[in-house]
Amino acid sequence: MNPRDIPPEAFHASGAEVQAIDFGYVRSPDQDRAMPAQHPIVVIGAGPVGLSLAIDLAQRGQRVVVLDNDHKLSIGSRAICFAKRTLEIWDRLGVGQRMVDKGVSWNLGKVFLKEEQLYEFNLLPEEGHERPAFINLQQYYAEAYLVERALQLPGIDIRWHNKVTAVAARDNGALLSVETPDGAYQIDAQWLVACDGSRSPTRQMLGLESKGRIFQDRFLIADVKLQGDADFPTERWFWFDPPFHPHQSVLLHRQPDNVWRIDFQLGWDADPEEEKKPENIIPRVQALLGAEAQFELDWASVYTFACLRMDQFVHGRVIFAGDSAHGVSPFGARGANSGVQDAENLAWKLDWVLQGRASPALVATYGPEREYAADENLCNSTRATDFITPKSEVSRLFRDAALHLAREHAFARRIVNSGRLSVPATLHASPLNTPDTDAFAGTQVPGAVLLDAPLTKQGQPTWLLRELGPDFTLLVFGPAPAWARDLPGVTVLQIGIDVIDHQALAAQRLDALPRTVYLVRPDQHVCARWRTPTEAAVRSALARAAAA
Ligand SMILES: Cc1cc2nc3c(=O)[nH]c(=O)nc-3n(C[C@H](O)[C@H](O)[C@H](O)COP(=O)(O)OP(=O)(O)OC[C@H]3O[C@@H](n4cnc5c(N)ncnc54)[C@H](O)[C@@H]3O)c2cc1C
Repeated sequence: MNPRDIPPEAFHASGAEVQAIDFGYVRSPDQDRAMPAQHPIVVIGAGPVGLSLAIDLAQRGQRVVVLDNDHKLSIGSRAICFAKRTLEIWDRLGVGQRMVDKGVSWNLGKVFLKEEQLYEFNLLPEEGHERPAFINLQQYYAEAYLVERALQLPGIDIRWHNKVTAVAARDNGALLSVETPDGAYQIDAQWLVACDGSRSPTRQMLGLESKGRIFQDRFLIADVKLQGDADFPTERWFWFDPPFHPHQSVLLHRQPDNVWRIDFQLGWDADPEEEKKPENIIPRVQALLGAEAQFELDWASVYTFACLRMDQFVHGRVIFAGDSAHGVSPFGARGANSGVQDAENLAWKLDWVLQGRASPALVATYGPEREYAADENLCNSTRATDFITPKSEVSRLFRDAALHLAREHAFARRIVNSGRLSVPATLHASPLNTPDTDAFAGTQVPGAVLLDAPLTKQGQPTWLLRELGPDFTLLVFGPAPAWARDLPGVTVLQIGIDVIDHQALAAQRLDALPRTVYLVRPDQHVCARWRTPTEAAVRSALARAAAA
C-alpha cells in the first residue's frame, strides 16, 4: 500500500495496532533512471530525529527524501519521556497537541531510599507555561504522529525498505547506494543528514567513530499493562535499594493505555538472556506491584548503556544528528529529546543555505552548537549513571552518605542524582550570538531558548512561543521603531500592541522594560537583546546570526 493511502484511523489506533502499521514498499521513479537522481536533501533514518528534521524542512518549503531500511515504527516503547522543549518544537511542526493529548503529562518526581521517601521535586514549579515539564508517551506513538504529519506534507518523500549500503562523500554532496526489495539504485544528495541511529551505518561507511564510555551495568526494562488501577500517581518514582529489589535501583513511570515502565538495575553479572525470560521478569514486577496486582507483560528488554559522541557532527556536506552523532544513557531522557533539538537547529540553517539566504558557513555552525549541547548532555548523563551505579566502594560510600543526608538537608538533595532530566542547552559560546551590551537579569542570555509565557491576542489566549515567526523574530516591548518593518525575513512582534502580556510574565521572564528588544532565531534561541537598539545594531546581529 502507498503510505499516503493509509487511513487516518490507523494512526489513531492503540498499542499493538499502531505498531502493526506496515508502510510497505513503493518503487520510486529514481530507480528507473539511467543516472542517479539529484536531490537537495536526503535524510537517512525515519526515527524521531529524521522525521522531525524532514517535517521542519518541508514546512519551510524544501523537498526532502527520507530513506529507511525498515517499514514499521519503533519496536517496543523505547523512549517514553518527552521534554517540554521537544513538545514546543513539535508544536511548531504541527504535532505537539497530538502528543500531549495521548501522552501522560507530569512534573513531579519522588526519590526513595529503601521504603522511605527522601524528597520530591517539581520540574516545572511555576504556572504560565503551555507545556508540562514532560509527557510520557511510547516512542512508537511519537513516531506514528510524526509519520502522519510527514505524509501530509507534499515536500517529503519517505521511502521505506530503502537501505543505504554505501555513502561516498564529495565536496558538493554525497552519492548513496540504496538497496530495495527489487534492486539497488543510487541517489545524488546535495546535503546528506545521517539520522540512522546509534549504530549509524553512515558513520561506519565513512570510517568515522563515536567515542566515549560503556557502563558496566545491565538494566531490565519492563513495560507492564495493569488490569485495574494502580496506586501510583502520575509521577516519576525512583528507588535506591528498595526491599523489593535489594541493593539495586528501580524507576517507575506511567505511560498511556495503563502501561507502566519499570527499569530494574541488574548489575553487570546478570545474564541478559535469562533476565529477558518472562518467568524471571514477572516475579520482579510482582514484588514491586504487590501480590494482588494483575498485569500483562507488554514489552521487555535488557540493556547496557554507553555515553559516546562523534568528534565532529559536520563532515562537509554530510551531517550527523540524533543517536548517530551522540549516545547517552537513558537517565535523564536525553536521547530523543536532544536529537529533536539537533533537528531543529539544523533545519533552518539548511533551509537558509538552500534558499541562498546564507552561505554554507551557517550550516557549519550546527557542529559546534550541537557538540556543545551533546557535551552538556553527556556530562549530566554520565554523572547520573555514575551515581546510580557506583563502580567503587568509595563511590558507593559517597552515594549512600548523600542519600542519608538528603532526608534532612537540601544541599545533599542537590548531590543525589537519579537522572537529572533533560533541559535544552544554553548555547553560551555560539558564534551566532551577539554579546550583551546592556545589563539584564535572569536566564534569557543570548544562546538560551526563549521561555514561554501566556499572552492574549485580539482577546483570545495565546502563547509567546506560538507567536514567533518562522524565521527571525524581533520581539519589542512596546511600539516597534519604524525601521523594524524593513528588516528582511523578520517577524516583528510588539508586546502590548500585537499581543498583550496580561499576566506580565513575558516581561518578568525576559527582564524587559518598555522598548526592550529581543532578537530570536528561527529555532527560538535568543541571539541578541538590547534596552533600546539602533537599526545598525539589529542588522549587525542579524548578519552575525546568519553567519554572514
Ligand atoms: C530503553 C530505552 C529507553 C529510552 N528512553 C528515552 C527517553 O525516555 N527519552 C529520550 O529522549 N530518549 C530515550 N531513549 C533514546 C531514544 O530511543 C533514542 O535517542 C532515539 O530513538 C534516537 O532517535 P534517532 O532518530 O536518532 O534514531 P533511531 O530512532 O534509532 O532511528 C534510526 C532510523 O534509521 C534507520 N536506519 C538505520 N540504518 C539504516 C540504513 N542503513 N539505511 C536506512 N535507514 C537506516 C532505522 O531503521 C531507524 O528507523 C531510550 C532508548 C532506549 C533503548
